Amino acid sequence: MTAVAVIGAGVGGLAAAARLAAAGHSVTIYERADTVGGKLARYARDGFTFDTGPSLFTLPQVFAELFADLGTSLERHLDLVKLDPIVRHRFPDGSTLDSCADPAAFATRIGVAFGARAAEDWSRLWARAARVWEASWRDVLRRPLDGPADLARLAWHVRDLAAIAPGRTLRGLGEEYLHDPRLRMLLDRYATYAGADPRRAPAALVAVPYAELAFGGWYLRGGLGRLADALLSLCLDLGVVVETGATVTGIEATGGRVQAIRVRGGRGTGRRVPVSTVVANVDALTLYRDLLPSPRRLAALSDRSLAGFVLLMGVRGRTGLAHHTVFFPRDYDAEFDAVFGDPGRGVPARPPADPTVFVTVADDPAARPDGHEAWFVLVNAPRQGTALDAVDWLRPGLADAYADRVLDLLAARGVDVRDRLVFREVRTPADLAASAHAPGGAIYGTANHALLRPANRGPVDGLHLVGGSTHPGGGLPMVVLSARIAADRIGPA
Ligand SMILES: Cc1cc2nc3c(=O)[nH]c(=O)nc-3n(C[C@H](O)[C@H](O)[C@H](O)COP(=O)(O)OP(=O)(O)OC[C@H]3O[C@@H](n4cnc5c(N)ncnc54)[C@H](O)[C@@H]3O)c2cc1C
Repeated sequence: MTAVAVIGAGVGGLAAAARLAAAGHSVTIYERADTVGGKLARYARDGFTFDTGPSLFTLPQVFAELFADLGTSLERHLDLVKLDPIVRHRFPDGSTLDSCADPAAFATRIGVAFGARAAEDWSRLWARAARVWEASWRDVLRRPLDGPADLARLAWHVRDLAAIAPGRTLRGLGEEYLHDPRLRMLLDRYATYAGADPRRAPAALVAVPYAELAFGGWYLRGGLGRLADALLSLCLDLGVVVETGATVTGIEATGGRVQAIRVRGGRGTGRRVPVSTVVANVDALTLYRDLLPSPRRLAALSDRSLAGFVLLMGVRGRTGLAHHTVFFPRDYDAEFDAVFGDPGRGVPARPPADPTVFVTVADDPAARPDGHEAWFVLVNAPRQGTALDAVDWLRPGLADAYADRVLDLLAARGVDVRDRLVFREVRTPADLAASAHAPGGAIYGTANHALLRPANRGPVDGLHLVGGSTHPGGGLPMVVLSARIAADRIGPA
């Protein structure tokens, strides 16, 4: 048996730990927080429960594979509820479009809402998205990608490359295919799933809507937090030791290999734990900047992902909103200008004045008292910090004033719950930075403005990276795939 230390009990860390334990390794997870799950967190108050991070479960086949590899099944642990609509899109002109996981039905809905030309445009884009998805699934998402040389070596066919169009942006793709500005907005939004600005995100991100609309968007009855519970119980069954309240303060590496980690808290203070393998589920920036013996700068780490401003609200009465509703603004570009700023020109990031508002209301009795709704409201936001591309969310009064602004915007867009609030909790990027130890509260670590993300292979032997800040990307299914890539490379004990 070899001793493996997993740093962080986010979904990537839990999935990697379970896979490695199943492969015969002796695994200990060190998690600085008191609970597991990382960004997949929950909050309960006054009979309401909220997922404070993910609200949309996609690519169930990725989780089904994980659970099957661990000798069980997804259905045995989780109750998946298929969403239709996956997302209700409300556009500034008052029109509405419901997405669903049936391409023909979705094209019909587009035709009804925006006309036959728009439906044809979408179908042409869809055919291209399918090619990008197939190439990504086959060559990128389930394989290590350690650098530009790996990317160049991929056996992409000419038609794959034509579909992926390296060098082209998601916005550029939308402009080529979609005449209706509302469909372009819908496509642009998927860049934010990768923490990015659609004007800089690669066109290959068209695989993201494909994944959601081909394989479905799901809710987990009882809340998405149930996934963390299930992974924890599998880990414990497989003999993984889980130490919470245990912060890893450093990784020792000599002779080009991992030798030990240093741990504060947990089952002892100030320990040195010899290990042969480390799986880091912390943000790659934390690993390279804070935990390695000599801090390193990776170019791939400088472009930080957007963050999120969240409201958790107990609401009296029933509004009948769909599970997910997106309220688009008039000027989407102004939102991205604000979220990222333009530091090169001295233009600071700022909270967007008129942002897209994403509201999740789970129709789940477990989430709210009778006659009420539990609202999760998410707005793209600049990350926490004092640099030009960040906002200091700790500035007195800012968070509450911005929360008021978001509720006023919702009222102006037709859903006014300001006098129906049982309570309102505000979570800024500074809160996510503190609770999930995500630098600046950046949801996905780095923004996917390039195809390559920090690799799963660390800079010294025996060190592996998993999680949303690494290859193949952020979001629950991607972090589960990162765990598979790392566990495969480590191999059996
Ligand atoms: C508001 C929000 C909405 C989202 N919506 C969705 C969605 O709808 N669908 C979706 O699929 N994804 C969504 N995501 C993204 C998804 O939550 C993440 O990509 C995923 O949960 C990240 O998992 P991870 O493995 O990277 O670990 P993380 O969740 O980043 O966890 C890392 C863990 O490491 C611990 N840690 C850090 N430093 C140390 C240390 N030194 N020692 C020990 N432990 C340490 C942290 O405490 C944390 O528990 C959302 C995220 C947020 C914040």
